[in-house]
Amino acid sequence: MFACLKCGGVLRVASVESEDARAGEIIEGTLECEGCRNATPIVRGIARFVPSESYASSFGFQWNRFDRLQLDRHMKSDLSRDRFDRTTGWSERMEGQRILEAGCGMGRFTDLALETGAEVVSFDLSLAVEAAWRNNRGSPRLTLFQASIYGIPLRQKCFDKIFCMGVLQHCPDVRGAFRGLLPFLRPGGEIVIDVYEKSHGLPPLKYMARPFLRPLGTEGIYRLLRWTIPPAFEVKKALHKIPALGPKVAALVPIGALSHADKGLYYSDDELKEVKILSALDMLSPVYDQPQTMEDVQHWFEDAGLVEVELKRGYNGINAKGKRPN
Ligand SMILES: [Zn+2]
Repeated sequence: MFACLKCGGVLRVASVESEDARAGEIIEGTLECEGCRNATPIVRGIARFVPSESYASSFGFQWNRFDRLQLDRHMKSDLSRDRFDRTTGWSERMEGQRILEAGCGMGRFTDLALETGAEVVSFDLSLAVEAAWRNNRGSPRLTLFQASIYGIPLRQKCFDKIFCMGVLQHCPDVRGAFRGLLPFLRPGGEIVIDVYEKSHGLPPLKYMARPFLRPLGTEGIYRLLRWTIPPAFEVKKALHKIPALGPKVAALVPIGALSHADKGLYYSDDELKEVKILSALDMLSPVYDQPQTMEDVQHWFEDAGLVEVELKRGYNGINAKGKRPN
């Protein structure tokens, strides 16, 4: 499965310092290239093909703190399921297929890809991959590692399906990140992505707030949100109960809705405060946030020679898919 990033050679296990024999997992050890002897450490159960999180560290912080809030299995919701199904349009059963997920975060979609019965290979640049490992460990059909989308240590043309959701806009070279996925698609295979859409009107508030918040760093932004959002929620809730003008004044408190029941999500107040902190952190902390236009994405797919291309607006902005010709 793995291919050396330096020479393309096959990687094999060179040393095992500790393992979980029952799960069949190496916890600490080393992979080594049979060709050039380049070594890749396995740390806390995960092969590490990059020395650091680089530009993605905000996601490492975010998804290790909020490692289960968007996990359907944990929240008993269909939030991730709906988005996954609507974006991919894939069949419920995919036994015998091999799926590559680029940018797994804490593994909300990894879980769903595994549910299809397919073999799933997944990675993230950030330490979110450790949250994904905690959430999905023990599955014999999952291969998980830490790597960059610009240097994926896998054999080419191996995958029936590739998906990359909630990721591309957070990469420094968005189109380059998309193009880097294509060599791994087998002929006839399908790639599915979503990416934020560039708005034509005024830029969203988050882009104006960011320059002021950036000096705080991810952890500082998180502390600020944790300090302000829960009391703001209580104030908004109290205002909302005041007859007549109450709800109108409450609407001015910019933390979103007091309930998500209209979306079929029944959070407790404490959960909803967490959802709001996560959502604000996700908006305010990424280093890169580069929305794209429909035309841009159409060109990516056409220039790559993909066929049966479909573009539509969806949950996360633009949803697109296409197939590599046979
Ligand atoms: Zn090598």
